[in-house]
Amino acid sequence: MDSLIQRPGTSGIAQGTHARIDLAAISANASMLASAARGTPVMAVVKSNAYGHGLIPTARAALEGGASRLGVAQLEDALALRSAGITAPILAWLPWRPTDYDAAILADVELGVEAPWRLAMIAEAAERNGCPARVHLEVDTGMSRGGATRDDWPLLVEAAHRAQDAGRIVVTGVFSHFACSDIPGHESITAQLSAFDEAVAYAAAAGVEPELRHLANSAALLTLPETHYDLVRTGLALYGLSPVEALGDFGLRPAMSLRSTVVVVKRIPAGTGVMYGLTYRTAVDTTVAVIPVGYADGLPRAASEAGVELLVGGRRHPIAGVVGMEQTVLDVGQDLPSPGQEVVLFGPGDDGEPTVVELARQLRMLPAEIMARIPASMPRLYES
Ligand SMILES: *Cc1c(COP(=O)(O)O)cnc(C)c1O
Repeated sequence: MDSLIQRPGTSGIAQGTHARIDLAAISANASMLASAARGTPVMAVVKSNAYGHGLIPTARAALEGGASRLGVAQLEDALALRSAGITAPILAWLPWRPTDYDAAILADVELGVEAPWRLAMIAEAAERNGCPARVHLEVDTGMSRGGATRDDWPLLVEAAHRAQDAGRIVVTGVFSHFACSDIPGHESITAQLSAFDEAVAYAAAAGVEPELRHLANSAALLTLPETHYDLVRTGLALYGLSPVEALGDFGLRPAMSLRSTVVVVKRIPAGTGVMYGLTYRTAVDTTVAVIPVGYADGLPRAASEAGVELLVGGRRHPIAGVVGMEQTVLDVGQDLPSPGQEVVLFGPGDDGEPTVVELARQLRMLPAEIMARIPASMPRLYES
């Protein structure tokens, strides 16, 4: 065997493992979604570090593109947006810490609420802070996650009506969430829609008529115009992924690519085992390239022996053996990448790299799951 003792080439700057985020794509997607919503305001859903894209830059790009509101699950994310100086209306639909209610009122963050006891805590915080809290009442129309059930809805509406009369809260919204809007024609869609109409009508009859009724997520925004009401909430599509793959890409552009760098290159003979368990055996004399990325960086261990190929120097090469915690080996065959050369794990697909959708299919994961699991500590390089 020839030994390959090479120094890194001087061309190209080794970036290490990083996520590259195309902010122009996020703005363009937001703008396209705003047109698809035909005048209905758009809430950009930036929970979970903006599906892994980075909370603050993503929120700004979405607002620049045409979103007018932001939505998160955890209050902490809403507070981080406020600390960054973002003044757009923000809804946090899952406040749960006892301190959340005061913090939300002080930062002018709207809160989702599903139960009278939580509404009472929010009203008490409003009283303490001398400022009414803005809330969105959540109704469970069939998903059984958040929201008051049909049986509990009247109690929540009545409690909200009383607290609003007492000047402690302002009911800004009534909302619910779809379980199957990404499955065209699913019978639950019309059932949830009529349950929502019923809940809205009940609230109106009881004197609670908020300015914002909202139900649609990305799939509903793009395929079910009858669900738009006064506001649409979009996550997946904002990041450029089709919420209903069978219906095409809707003109969306994926904003994230995950990249790494070749750090070790060597020739190994036919019949050599690779990585833990030596489950991979080289068929012929070959070159392996080590990249400093593993399951701690969000490359799922399930990508071991799953047929996953990554792009190195314009060509796809398979992962050899198991994905390690911080290192993964590629079998690059008779290619000869140099240390420092870029590796694309996934991206928009322009140069032949896998897309996150392709990777997710191979790994039996969701594209959003792969993106959201990229740790916050991963360097993100923002392009605009
Ligand atoms: C995550 C989430 C959304 C966004 O859903 P997408 O399918 O990504 O558009 C909207 N609303 C709520 C309540 C959510 O939890």
